Amino acid sequence: MWNSPKVGILGGGQLGRMLVESANRLNIQANILDVDNSPAKQISSHDGHVTGSFKEPEAVRKLADSCDVITAEIEHVDTYALEEVASKVRVEPSWQAIRTIQNKFDQKEHLRKYDIPMADHRELSSNAPEELAKIGEQLGYPMMLKSKTMAYDGRGNFRVNSKEDIPEALEALKDRPLYAEKWAYFKMELAVMVIKTKDDVLSYPTVETVQEDSICKLVYAPARNVSDAINQKAQALARKAVSAFKGKGAFGVEMFLLEDNSLMLCELASRIHNSGHWTIEGCALSQFDSHIRAIMDLPIPPKSLELRQPSIMLNIIGGATPDSHLKATEAALSIPNASIHLYSKGDAKPGRKMGHVTVTAATMHEAETMIQPLINVVDDMRA
Ligand code: ATP
Ligand code: MG
Ligand code: MG
Repeated sequence: MWNSPKVGILGGGQLGRMLVESANRLNIQANILDVDNSPAKQISSHDGHVTGSFKEPEAVRKLADSCDVITAEIEHVDTYALEEVASKVRVEPSWQAIRTIQNKFDQKEHLRKYDIPMADHRELSSNAPEELAKIGEQLGYPMMLKSKTMAYDGRGNFRVNSKEDIPEALEALKDRPLYAEKWAYFKMELAVMVIKTKDDVLSYPTVETVQEDSICKLVYAPARNVSDAINQKAQALARKAVSAFKGKGAFGVEMFLLEDNSLMLCELASRIHNSGHWTIEGCALSQFDSHIRAIMDLPIPPKSLELRQPSIMLNIIGGATPDSHLKATEAALSIPNASIHLYSKGDAKPGRKMGHVTVTAATMHEAETMIQPLINVVDDMRA
C-alpha cells in the first residue's frame, strides 16, 4: 500500500477540482498551486496548498518541496521551473512534453516526425500582411490563423476567409506568435482520451465533440454514426500521437474526421480534457481517476476504460447574465439520469465554463431525448 502520498497540481480550476475528487477517494492528498479559494482548493481542506501562480518559479519550487509527484491541469505553465524541480521530484507528464505541447506549432513540428496526419501549416516570422498573403496563396482560403501559444477555447484562432480579411486577422491576434493552417473540411470532430502509464498506452472510446463559437459544447460517447473501424482507427492514431511524448498521465487528443473518412489531428493537450468529462459517469474509472493512478504507478485495468452506457456531456457555459448557469442547473435537476457538476467559479461571464451535465442511458437515442430539453434551455441563454 502507498504511504500517504502527496500529489502537487499546477492549477486549481475545474480540471484540478475533479482531480481532487479522484485523489480524495484514494486518500491521496492533492496540494494545489493557484490563487486562494480556487475551485480545486474549495473542496480540499489541508495546509499543503500553495498560494500563487503556475507561472511563478518560486511558487512551483515551493509546491515541489512538499510533494512526491507533481502534475498540471493546464499546459500554460512555467516549464523552466518544472525542468529545474524535476531533479528533486517526479514531474508527470514530463516538462519536455508540456513545453512542446504548449506551443501548438512546436507540437505539430514534433508530431510531423511521427507521421501523424495534420492540416498543412506555415509559420509566420514577421506577422506582416504581405507574409500572410503569400501563405494564403499557398494554403488557399479560408485558412485558420492561430496563435502558437496561450490558446484555449478558440481564443487564439481567426478564420481568414479571403485576402481582404488579413488586416483584421493580424489585428485580432496582434503581438502573438502565429502560424496559419489550411482549412480542414471535416464532417465531424472526434476526440480520444489517452492514458500513458509506466508501461502502457491506453485509450478510452472515441467520442464526438461539437464546438460552438470554437468552445466545446457537447460530447457524445460513443461518437454517433461512426463505424467501429473508425472508432478503433481514431484510438490508434491518438495513442500513436501521445506515444511521441515522454511522461505519464492523461492526454486529450482532438481530431477531424474528413469526408473520405480519413482522420487528421487537430491538436493534443498534455492533461485531462473537457472531451473526457463523460468518463466520470460513463466508465468505471474516469479520466481523473486514471490520471492519478497513471502518475502514481497504480494499476489501471484496461477494462475499466470501456464505455458502460452511452453518455452525453453538455457544458454549462456563462451566458448573458451572471446567474445563467444557475438557470441551466435548475433545469438539469429535473432531467432523468443527469449528473450535475458545478465548478464554483462565482458569477458567470459570457463564454466561461461554469459546469457540465452528463446524461447516461441504455441507448444513445434515449440519452439524446432526455438531454434535449436542457440543450433548449442552454441555447436560449446564450450570450
Ligand atoms: P481548445 O479549447 O480545444 O484548446 P484551441 O483554442 O486550442 O481550443 P483549436 O482546438 O486549435 O483551438 O481549434 C478550435 C476549433 O476551431 C476546433 O475544434 C475546430 O472546430 C476549429 N478549427 C481549428 N482548426 C481548424 C482548421 N484547420 N480547419 C477548420 N476548423 C478548424
Ligand atoms: Mg488547444
Ligand atoms: Mg482544441
